[in-house]
Amino acid sequence: MTPTKLVLLDCDSTLSAIEGIDELGRLRGAETYSAVEAMTREAMEGGTSMESVFARRLDLIRPTSEELASIGSLYIAHVEPTAKASIAQLQGEGWTVAIVSGGFTQAIRPLADYLGVTTVEAVVLKFDERGCYAGFEEDCPTARTRGKNRVAQRLTGTLAATKTVMVGDGASDLEVKGDVDYVIGFGRYAVREKVKAGADAFIMSLSELPAILRLL
Ligand SMILES: [Mg+2]
Repeated sequence: MTPTKLVLLDCDSTLSAIEGIDELGRLRGAETYSAVEAMTREAMEGGTSMESVFARRLDLIRPTSEELASIGSLYIAHVEPTAKASIAQLQGEGWTVAIVSGGFTQAIRPLADYLGVTTVEAVVLKFDERGCYAGFEEDCPTARTRGKNRVAQRLTGTLAATKTVMVGDGASDLEVKGDVDYVIGFGRYAVREKVKAGADAFIMSLSELPAILRLL
């Protein structure tokens, strides 16, 4: 296998301005939205574990397959303005780009296609024949604490990556430190002090990535 360099990109509040789960919560009204948003924020800041909020948020919302598809359109409508060009540039410079997210695969796939990214490691939701919510694939690593670490280790191994970099805004992105060579914090949509302090670098636009990665 030809050795490659690997860059793992978070989705929510990194590749796109929105948090998909919060937008799904919004569809259920103000009360559900604020309950979901509070749980997301706590998990993102490292206050609670992902396991404790993951099923709870989904059980509160019970999104339909159609609603999940609408989040896919929202991701694209709110895409980070420099993402597409930056990813194309990185790919041209020999980086393999993958999206690693605790969000939902069926909503992220359209954004990944738009950005020209093949690999999406996220959580697959299940639906019945009428498109009603029927749980999620519990073996998806990113539904759990340190799930991004497991994905980073696996992809680094299968791609024989000589260098692996994680880019994202949240606690679960910072946590990958130790299992990748570099963690780059992202602050265009949310500046989390813990991430800013702990990351190897901190950027405000994805257009800064190619130059930073050239220095690694
Ligand atoms: Mg994020």
